[in-house]
Amino acid sequence: MSQEDGLKKIISHAKEYGFVFPSSEIYDGLSAAYDYGQLGSELKNNIKNYWWTSMVRMNDNIVGIDAAIFMHPTTWKASGHVDAFNDPLIDNKDSNKRYRADVLIEDHIAKIDKKIDKDVAKGFKRFGDDFNEAEFRATNPNVLRRQASIDEINRKFKEAMNDDNLAAVKALIEELGIVCPISGSKNWTDVRQFNLMFNTELGAVSGDAGIIYLRPETAQGIFVNYLNVQKSGRMKIPFGIAQIGKAFRNEIIARQFIFRMREFEQMEMQFFIKPGTQTEWYEHWKEERKKWHSALGLGDENYRFHDHIKLAHYADAACDIEFNFPMGFKELEGIHSRTDFDLKSHEEFSGKKLRYFDPESKESYVPYVVETSIGLDRMFLAVLSSAYTEETLEGGNERTVLRIPPALAPVKVAVLPLIKKDGLPEKAKEILKSIRLKHNVQYDEKDAIGRRYRRQDAIGTPLCITVDHDTLNDDAVTVRERDGMTQERIAIVDLPAYVEARVGLETLFS
Ligand code: ATP
Repeated sequence: MSQEDGLKKIISHAKEYGFVFPSSEIYDGLSAAYDYGQLGSELKNNIKNYWWTSMVRMNDNIVGIDAAIFMHPTTWKASGHVDAFNDPLIDNKDSNKRYRADVLIEDHIAKIDKKIDKDVAKGFKRFGDDFNEAEFRATNPNVLRRQASIDEINRKFKEAMNDDNLAAVKALIEELGIVCPISGSKNWTDVRQFNLMFNTELGAVSGDAGIIYLRPETAQGIFVNYLNVQKSGRMKIPFGIAQIGKAFRNEIIARQFIFRMREFEQMEMQFFIKPGTQTEWYEHWKEERKKWHSALGLGDENYRFHDHIKLAHYADAACDIEFNFPMGFKELEGIHSRTDFDLKSHEEFSGKKLRYFDPESKESYVPYVVETSIGLDRMFLAVLSSAYTEETLEGGNERTVLRIPPALAPVKVAVLPLIKKDGLPEKAKEILKSIRLKHNVQYDEKDAIGRRYRRQDAIGTPLCITVDHDTLNDDAVTVRERDGMTQERIAIVDLPAYVEARVGLETLFS
């Protein structure tokens, strides 16, 4: 299946089963905005809950807040977003299509990277089990030549961006012979900067004085509340503040489904530390985040770390956790060592001290910050795309199954009376009642049992409980598991514990 087909299938499955709909679809939709349906919002809530639990509940020194989307406009001057939250954009004069210049260059690099992977695959074919990939990558002349060309492109791009030299970015695009994917031409405009913040007017105040922004990141709501939380919560450094909330960016190009939206949700945690300890904490949070992802079982081979080439204006170290989406490896989460840039800048612009007094050493300082920032919608896409599987079963039947990690599945259990009479529906509803307070459960009595199983497979329900005539005598039910399709007879009294052990959040923390 091509990458494009893979994504298309996921988009159509997501719509058909109530996970994600295009926004305001009856008016033909709105570009880069999506609505989460009845199952999508359950899945989203479960991802949030997993993140929040791991950050706020499992760490004594991390607390959560929920700040307003609107903030005093000076916030965004202090944070650097008014002056520097730009993407370099470029248009192709023949197709009139607009691109991010940095993305054109990144895509070009990805093509060279793919060639390296092909060289490695060839080497593997030639040498078989004796193949030493690390040695091959370090010595093969083709690989070395290609890698040197990637390094050179990165160097030139970094230099151009650091110098704010947009002419040099355009020159690099021309030098690499990058063509517009639509027109195939190299007829480019100059590169210009485009600010990604949405703005609107506050109340009845018009003109510059009334301009207010929709926050482009949740982080600043945490920085401006640093002292409020530290004082009211009597927090001692090191400590963290976590938040889940909407962010808005007027993305130049927003394709690829919920991967890049103009309105999206972030799950961020800013960890306040003593200056000088940032390298240690940066490594700590890289490791912690890796574990969080790994526990989901989406496959460690689908993740990789990518160090930033060009550091943002606030960072002294930064990397992305990339995920193997249907479109290839792309950023899922960022881990940034933000120094004291934000708090210092807010001190300057507000005239208020944002310091920490260390009661032991008796020093007062502006804390440094290491942050982890993950896009909830991108995590949703990572879960959905890695879960989507089409299978041919023994006997030639086909099924589409979403192998969503059970603890995140939108519906945890389906309760199915074998037939619609003889007291089986009543018994099934009793069972449903005993589980629904803890887990999202569905009741289904329509169609043959096999078809009902398929419907549950298609939405990723980990367990189906079937109530049959024997149930009325032995007070036991048949439980069918989604992935292996194995069936077990379980006593009704044991069901709550049985279900919890298989689909509870705790399964992710063992
Ligand atoms: P990109 O390079 O893909 O534009 P970014 O580096 O600007 O992303 P950050 O500012 O580090 O992203 O934001 C943190 C996280 O927020 C990202 O890792 C991503 O998961 C999410 N995110 C950022 N922009 C979007 C968007 N337009 N739509 C959905 N999620 C987003």
